[in-house]
Amino acid sequence: MYFCNECKEQFGEPRLMSDTHYEVDTRTDEVYSVCPYCASSDYEEMVSCLCCGEPIRSSEDYCTGCIDFANEAINEFSWKMAAFENANKLLLHVLESEG
Ligand SMILES: [Zn+2]
Ligand SMILES: [Zn+2]
Repeated sequence: MYFCNECKEQFGEPRLMSDTHYEVDTRTDEVYSVCPYCASSDYEEMVSCLCCGEPIRSSEDYCTGCIDFANEAINEFSWKMAAFENANKLLLHVLESEG
């Protein structure tokens, strides 16, 4: 998969274009590939999300779905840790007052 930096579209295969250079040699066609949506050559090959394998931009490690999921899990975890710490404090308090 490829990601176009110009029009933000994703595509499987870039479109091949050829430029005929009349000024150099009439038989030489320079073939280059562009985004099939906007014909921009400013596109990049996508990489796979390290977690689920979804195609993502090469500047990222994880897709937004996995990042959202991780953030939720972290929130839930920190909430549980806070609850656990409070319970721990309460337990210590009870033990101290009994001692
Ligand atoms: Zn494009
Ligand atoms: Zn993912």
